[in-house]
Amino acid sequence: MKDLIYLDNAATTKVAPEVFDAMLPYFCEQYGNPSSAYSFSGEIAKKVTEARTFIAGTIGADEKEIFFTSGGSESDNWAIKGIADNLRDKGNHIITTKIEHHAVLHTCGFLEKHGFEVTYLDVDENGLVDPGQVEKAIKPSTILISVMFANNEIGTIQPIQKIGEICRSRNVLFHTDAVQAIGHIPVNVKDDNIDMLSASAHKFHGPKGVGFLYVKKGIRLTNLIEGGAQERGKRAGTENVPAIAAMAEALKEAAAAMKENTEHLKRMRKLLVDGLCQIPHCALNGDADVRLPGNVNFCFEGIEGESLLLLLDDKGVEASSGSACTSGSLDPSHVLLAIGRVHDVAHGSLRLSIGEEITEEDVNYIIQTVKDIVEYLRGFSPIWRDLMAGKKKFIL
Ligand SMILES: *Cc1c(COP(=O)(O)O)cnc(C)c1O
Repeated sequence: MKDLIYLDNAATTKVAPEVFDAMLPYFCEQYGNPSSAYSFSGEIAKKVTEARTFIAGTIGADEKEIFFTSGGSESDNWAIKGIADNLRDKGNHIITTKIEHHAVLHTCGFLEKHGFEVTYLDVDENGLVDPGQVEKAIKPSTILISVMFANNEIGTIQPIQKIGEICRSRNVLFHTDAVQAIGHIPVNVKDDNIDMLSASAHKFHGPKGVGFLYVKKGIRLTNLIEGGAQERGKRAGTENVPAIAAMAEALKEAAAAMKENTEHLKRMRKLLVDGLCQIPHCALNGDADVRLPGNVNFCFEGIEGESLLLLLDDKGVEASSGSACTSGSLDPSHVLLAIGRVHDVAHGSLRLSIGEEITEEDVNYIIQTVKDIVEYLRGFSPIWRDLMAGKKKFIL
């Protein structure tokens, strides 16, 4: 039996051993509350500050601009609802895109029910947002623009710097969900003109349930949790010290290995894409180059993605059809629909989000296994039969 090949790193990643070790002292030894007055706690408060300063430095921010949260969803919710609430006298219009994570889309949907107007921008067939469209959508009532840094399903990396530049020149706040980008590709809030940024540790080998929100100095955001003075009084609650220490360690490891990991992942990605492209009637989803180093996403015509996943699982390959949040529902991915895939085709999707440990041997095994399963499934697919008989036209 082959070892499992884990290809779902966009859903979550394994906690790195160094990261696990970094959290341990804060459970049974240095367990004090960072807010307490005795020196034992002072040491721990210092650790939290160190982590905050380090994390800030990795994205070109100041320590006072980093707010610890429970992860990406909380950061997205807080950024968008916090601005909407704070600026509702100034305007009620928000601009975002059709391919955002549900943490952004559903937050915008919530605000629509409360009197806000939201523009959901289209993307092109490669999954890229056109900065010109962003600019055109701005109205006098626009208070916030939220565009994700990199997409969690198809991996496309958006022209964030350019969009940020437009937001600055038009005096509109700019938030980016950078959950898939942080720890994987370089991000600098100053160079990229970012006002607010969401990140989550479990997407870069940190633990689940911890993340941060960067908020540029001077931006007023409504408090998320009332209570104590933690997170500058804006998000009360005793700090999750082990998780915060682990997140800083994970980011340190990620930054140190980023160049090497990127080279390796890009090489493995190319082999995977070239190999899978040989399957008839398939298509790569998302721009071939402007994408995360570890993301591969395909549609195969005439099959159901869910059956493909189950059979891959049997063969020790752990993959996904798209977002972890949409699996279990029968709706095709909103991201694949946004890049113009029709329902039938969008149903036959496969996302392989590869990790640094992947080898060329794994890649060859994956390609062969996917090929075999696609052929097998097509063997008794009514859609495939109609396509082959000419009763239906091939799209891919
Ligand atoms: C995973 C993810 C989130 C949610 O992050 P959690 O920490 O799991 O809440 C938000 N946005 C994107 C793009 C993601 O990939």
